[in-house]
Amino acid sequence: MSFFAKLKEGLAKTRQTFVDKVRETVRFRKKIDEELFEELEETLIRADVGAEASLKLVEGLRQQVREKRVEDPGQIPELLKEQIRNLVASAAMTNAIASAPEGPTVIMVVGVNGVGKTTSIGKLAAQYKGEGKKVLVAAGDTFRAAAIDQLEVWARRAEVDIIKGQEGSDPAALAFDAVQAARSRRMDVVIIDTAGRLHTKSNLMEELKKIKRVVSRDLPEAPHEVLLVLDASTGQNAIQQAKIFGEAAGVTGIVLTKLDGSSKGGVVVGITSEMKIPVKLVGVGEKIDDLRPFNPNEYVDALFG
Ligand code: GDP
Ligand code: MG
Repeated sequence: MSFFAKLKEGLAKTRQTFVDKVRETVRFRKKIDEELFEELEETLIRADVGAEASLKLVEGLRQQVREKRVEDPGQIPELLKEQIRNLVASAAMTNAIASAPEGPTVIMVVGVNGVGKTTSIGKLAAQYKGEGKKVLVAAGDTFRAAAIDQLEVWARRAEVDIIKGQEGSDPAALAFDAVQAARSRRMDVVIIDTAGRLHTKSNLMEELKKIKRVVSRDLPEAPHEVLLVLDASTGQNAIQQAKIFGEAAGVTGIVLTKLDGSSKGGVVVGITSEMKIPVKLVGVGEKIDDLRPFNPNEYVDALFG
């Protein structure tokens, strides 16, 4: 199945809770009035688009309707589709993953437990490997031994090198070692996994900052990317997490996983509208090739079916 077909299938439930609802909202209307706009706004909010983005979209619709003298409510879904396309596209201008001009590109991957960090690292490592790059992954989620094992399985699958420590060891020290190793082995990419929670009360954000600091000690530009992984199926929670991690961890890009099967895929619109951080990658499954660069047009076309 092509990636687009997978994305389209993955967004089927979102289509029901979002696009189909919009279509229902306008179906038996004879005219476009304030009541219709208000109902549309509510529909969008319920579809996890988020209050801010919903307001922006409906405001845009009002303007279009006025300017183009639209009278047929049946035209609303198509107008909305283009509004969403513009909103999402404007935020995704810079969605390429950064790459260091020389020396290893260091990518740090952060996010709460279970969102898909380790899986996404495995998929990303496989992609770089496929491009002929030398990749090192670092098992910086030292919270559980199982997390280290899981990254090891992915490293084997992607056929890339791994650096790991003992369960409970210091992730910043491991990250430092990883960058050192990558430099001496002339590797192209280092991807650092991190924990989503901690044993001690020491703040997760403080730990992430420490990893960042340590990594930049030898390579001042590193990490070149801090990717925040968000689980699309958590809807508004994902937006909350983006706000918390965004500033504290210096996030440069978002990886949105589990777009497959979620009914909350509208959250992409909310995230792009409320965050200044671009969505760079999307995940639509558990397999190694189920991660792709985020393409706004593809997303909107898949969403509207
Ligand atoms: P972590 O705790 O953030 O490292 O999350 P994991 O990488 O361990 O992933 C948690 C679960 O989510 C695993 O069962 C993954 O297979 C699953 N997962 C990750 N990404 C996706 C995705 O894009 N789609 C689906 N359906 N499942 C995913
Ligand atoms: Mg993990």
